[in-house]
Amino acid sequence: MADTGVNKQQSRSEAVGRAKVAVAGGGRARVYLETYGCQMNIADSQLVNAVLRRAGYGSVDKPEEADVILINTCAIREHAEERVIGRLSDLARLKHSRPEVKLGLLGCMAQHNRASLIAKAPWLDLVAGPDTYRRLPELIGRSGYDPAVDVRLSREETYAGLSPDYEAGVRAYVTIMRGCDKFCAFCVVPYVRGRERSVPAENIVREVEALAARGFKEIVLLGQTVNAYRAGDVDFAALLRNVAAVEGIERIRFTSPHPSDMSTPAIEVMASEPKIQPYLHLPVQSGSDRLLAAMERGYTVRGYLDLVGRLRSAIPGLALSTDIIVGFHGETKNDFQATLDLMRTVRYDSAFSFKYSVREHTRAYRLGDSVSEEEKGRRLSELIAMQEKISLERNRELIGQTFPVLVEGPARRGEGRMMGKTPQFKTVTFPGHDNIATGTTINARIDAATGHSLSGVTV
Ligand code: SAM
Ligand code: SF4
Repeated sequence: MADTGVNKQQSRSEAVGRAKVAVAGGGRARVYLETYGCQMNIADSQLVNAVLRRAGYGSVDKPEEADVILINTCAIREHAEERVIGRLSDLARLKHSRPEVKLGLLGCMAQHNRASLIAKAPWLDLVAGPDTYRRLPELIGRSGYDPAVDVRLSREETYAGLSPDYEAGVRAYVTIMRGCDKFCAFCVVPYVRGRERSVPAENIVREVEALAARGFKEIVLLGQTVNAYRAGDVDFAALLRNVAAVEGIERIRFTSPHPSDMSTPAIEVMASEPKIQPYLHLPVQSGSDRLLAAMERGYTVRGYLDLVGRLRSAIPGLALSTDIIVGFHGETKNDFQATLDLMRTVRYDSAFSFKYSVREHTRAYRLGDSVSEEEKGRRLSELIAMQEKISLERNRELIGQTFPVLVEGPARRGEGRMMGKTPQFKTVTFPGHDNIATGTTINARIDAATGHSLSGVTV
């Protein structure tokens, strides 16, 4: 799920979380798990935690205290991979002083270029792709002189029936489908995560009921092309209705939908089902038809704008965010101007923007890079500056309005303030100590705004 805010191209490749599993009793092997990349990777790490906890492993917060160190990786851009290689070198020093420690690499990078990876990091004990997590205890047990490697992709594995170790809070991210069949020319996801497959609807509903019973208020349905969901007779629109019927869940979101799969029935459910929140992260990638065709995105600018129009007229107050790539092969100054024009037209609430990174195995790989790094940087800065201005304007338009805010806890900054999200997924801070319970919904009147957040008072 995208946050509000604009310059997120770096934060997406930061290490985003650590393992949080039940504390082990004495003598059990201890695991440290570090996660890089998108929300799907965070959700996968929660699955890994569950698999290892059930196998008797405990968790620790520091690699120095671990018997097994695992890194769940992202391969979407070269920068993300370089960061992980750097981190692996740090951890190798640790392994040097304690050779019995096992060091493993999981996820998309494990799948992508595993041979060169093992050459670059020969100290790895374990390399496991995203479809092999049920086998992790066995792989950890097996690794010896040569690394234990399992990067087989599966056409069936959805981890249905395996409940992840969710992080405590008001919101739980529930994976409903895995893989991707779209093969956009720039993207490595179909190669590292495999073919599209959906979790059976009854498993999803059971999981959401269990989450409601544990006090979660908001569910975010996850998938690389989440709205391509289909399991038997149940399509995405039907699934939304089924999940919305679960008592106790107050808010439902999903990410990331693909524009080509945004069906009329799905829009109708969003418009008619009050639990489905008026916020959509709708990646566009480029505002130039020539580039969209080269990227093999499967829609035109006109088609995309038409979709935005239909969504906005069906769902009042809808907030929109997007993903943009600058400097894809062949992007001219005119193509880039067309992207800026589209952004001015749509006026997104926020945007995640990325410099194009050539990825091995993709359809665009052989084309190479035609835009220099400097020019990509310049285009990225221009785009971010424009989006920041638009985000600020849009947020200022909300001053004086009142929104229901689902309270998440103390604000990170600002003594004596709490924070929560509006239906549009905008962060609001407001005065309050711990007197307002997490998980309650308050009404906040907005009295100030930045491009990234709102502040208000309870009314
Ligand atoms: N499935 C989603 C969709 O198609 O809209 C996007 C999932 S992808 C993990 C997240 C974003 O990473 C993409 O929307 C795209 O903007 C960006 N991305 C993917 N491949 C990239 C590449 N080779 N270089 C730069 N950014 C890339
Ligand atoms: Fe990648 Fe395109 Fe699939 Fe999104 S839809 S994951 S960008 S191939």
